[in-house]
Amino acid sequence: MNEQRDNVWHGVAIITGASSGIGEAIVKKLAPSATGLVIAARRMERLTSLAKSLGNHVIPVECDVQKKDDVERVIQTAIDRFGRVDTLVNNAGIAPMASMLRGRIEDWENTIDTNVKGVLYGISSVLPHMLKQKTGRIITISSEAGRRVFPGSAVYCASKHAVRVIGEGLQFDLSARSQKDGNDIKVSTILPGYVLTDLPESVTFEPARDEFRKNMQSVDGPMMGSDIADCIQFILNAPQHVEIGEMIVRPVKQNM
Ligand code: NDP
Repeated sequence: MNEQRDNVWHGVAIITGASSGIGEAIVKKLAPSATGLVIAARRMERLTSLAKSLGNHVIPVECDVQKKDDVERVIQTAIDRFGRVDTLVNNAGIAPMASMLRGRIEDWENTIDTNVKGVLYGISSVLPHMLKQKTGRIITISSEAGRRVFPGSAVYCASKHAVRVIGEGLQFDLSARSQKDGNDIKVSTILPGYVLTDLPESVTFEPARDEFRKNMQSVDGPMMGSDIADCIQFILNAPQHVEIGEMIVRPVKQNM
């Protein structure tokens, strides 16, 4: 169960996009107090060595979030190994930016399939278990791009707007149900500004990749994955009756 002892979260969590950056930092932050963690991504060798460094209660599962069956298998692994799933962190994402005028349709499809459909598959796979348990936490990593539109990243911004709105809508649907069955399933969305990670490597259009990397690295006093992991802990440690719907976090000196 999601529970706090000594102000520290305990439970079973699933983290997608756990092989690097923000996801990896979340895994490291939650592992010491978790009953079980299922960590998912495509790069299995990175997941395996991360799990090995943290203990037997961390289970790596190969998963492409574009594939519904893969995501369902990840959730089922948590149920089979730990008997429940308390927290899902929908973190996997890509940012293949480029002006829309370039018509990079494959990038558009990949962005929607990963950032939006991947999140929906996570929600659809985990909800039946959480509804049965009458408790759970679903946390999605959107972006500042889920509130604003930046030049040259229309589809990425659209995908991050979409998951923010999906989270808000899901919260309404759950609170209506909660009035009937008393469930305390909570939904939270984190909207980070620049976090120093490998995200620019997911940009397939080279000039846009270089610019993204340059902008990210130009922030004086950048946020790191561990800063977002701290936000996750804060959300998980909120009192039972308090739901943190959205959390916008950015480096103090980010001026774009
Ligand atoms: P990284 O590139 O370091 O991490 C992305 C993670 O997503 C990797 O673990 C990658 O694993 C995984 N991933 C990508 N595609 C898939 C897929 N199809 N199936 C499964 N896993 C996938 O970048 P970040 O840590 O920065 O990104 C994490 C999230 O944070 C993303 O949703 C991003 O949009 C968001 N974000 C990042 C910001 C930043 O400035 N860095 C700002 C705002 C939001 P693998 O390749 O092994 O599958």
